[in-house]
Amino acid sequence: MQAQARETYQAVIGLEFHVHLATTTKMFCGCRVTYGEEPNTHTCPVCLGHPGALPVINEKAIELGVMAGLALNCNVAERAEFARKNYFYPDLPKGYQISQFDLPICIGGHLDVPLGDETIRVGITRLHLEEDAAKNVHVGESGRMHGSVGSMVDYNRGGTPLMEIVTEPDIPSPEAARATANHIKEIMRAIGVSEADMEKGQLRCDANVSIRNPDGSFGTKTELKNMNSFRFVERGIAAELARQREILESGGRVEQTTLHYDPNDDEVHELRSKEFAHDYRYFPEPDLLPLELSEAWVSEIKSRLPELPDEMRARFVESYGLSAYDAGVLTADRDLAVFYEKVASEVDPKQAANWISGDLRARLNEAGVGISDSKVTPEHMIELIGLVGSGNISRSAARDVLGTVFASGDAPSAVVEREGLASMGGDALSGIVDGVIAANPDEAERVRGGDKKVIGFLVGQVMKEARGSADGGRVRQLLLEKLGS
Ligand code: ADP
Ligand code: ZN
Ligand code: MG
Repeated sequence: MQAQARETYQAVIGLEFHVHLATTTKMFCGCRVTYGEEPNTHTCPVCLGHPGALPVINEKAIELGVMAGLALNCNVAERAEFARKNYFYPDLPKGYQISQFDLPICIGGHLDVPLGDETIRVGITRLHLEEDAAKNVHVGESGRMHGSVGSMVDYNRGGTPLMEIVTEPDIPSPEAARATANHIKEIMRAIGVSEADMEKGQLRCDANVSIRNPDGSFGTKTELKNMNSFRFVERGIAAELARQREILESGGRVEQTTLHYDPNDDEVHELRSKEFAHDYRYFPEPDLLPLELSEAWVSEIKSRLPELPDEMRARFVESYGLSAYDAGVLTADRDLAVFYEKVASEVDPKQAANWISGDLRARLNEAGVGISDSKVTPEHMIELIGLVGSGNISRSAARDVLGTVFASGDAPSAVVEREGLASMGGDALSGIVDGVIAANPDEAERVRGGDKKVIGFLVGQVMKEARGSADGGRVRQLLLEKLGS
């Protein structure tokens, strides 16, 4: 069969997230949840899978799951059930994982993901709870199973509470997938359900990727496993879409398979074909009663939900008069949003938004650090914006000052003084303005007559004379005052 010529390739992407819940103890026993401690120091007969040991449901985990579901606009089930997912692997000592199957705690929600000036709505299929597997540690130089000389298992992680969130295949691009992952993280952090730090493995993301058939129906999907940074989510999906497209363009067919993205070569590699897919033989967990989630309990949890990123974004537009874009940028990072609010409470909120979502964020991105790890404080920004507003420094000088503050953590006023960046003061500037007016009588006369278009020329002349140490806005104001216009 001839390959069909296609003009467009429409991506169809669905994501599956695994989120570590911020409980103090494990899902079905009293062992503490820990990171990076001595292996096998937080275990008991339950999480080691000893025969006869009985699981007990961690109520806090259920509560956090319900919170997350509510934040994602899901329906909380009146009745939920745990199920056994049977498979064999050394990190799973019972021979099965306690998970949820046909009766998850939450179904059918959505989230509105900011993407540039727009938001896209991504449906949530379901949200369920399960226990994490233990951690396999491969001994040898590679650190991976392939090429190792032996493997050990650390059961500290075994049995820790995990939440799985499955989206509908509503995501149209790799960038949108990254934004969705980021939004999930922000929501989880906002409600205190998880720190959702991808680097620590508290948030993991698998992607299902396909290209729509020319007739609009879904194409065959592949699954990209375990992407552990937002950048890799975007790049991994882009690499997989490129691979599928190449197959389709050469007249081939995409095979359903599981892949892994390797950032080193920016390519996807096959892990296993779906032919070998497990049959998990799910059945209801006989050692646990079904959950009944009362309406009263759910609405009590709902009443405790803090402000969500979507609500915060709307509030930023409403009460600070920001554009949807700026509000989206600022609230996409909760720490930055909190930082912004401190600054905006002291200076003009729009100026604050311009500086923080513009220059400051560019520097953060360039350095690859979050606002809480940077040396810039809200007080610094308040001072800097104040110095510009009062005409003490020009806008361009302020950019340089911010660079120095960013690198050193010194106060803006100290930097201005040390580097002699203060704008020309009143008298000197006034003298230059008078000189420029005298030297350009025709233009000055036109401004007096109400023609404001030539003012830019005069401002430019003054700026030139002042060699960049004047503030444009202030110069313009001075000119207008002197020309009585
Ligand atoms: P499976 O039976 O393989 O688990 P599901 O229908 O349960 O598949 O879907 C799993 C994930 O794959 C969900 O996130 C869903 O949105 C996504 N998905 C389903 N169909 C497609 C498709 N054609 N292309 C991309 N993603 C898809
Ligand atoms: Zn235990
Ligand atoms: Mg499925």
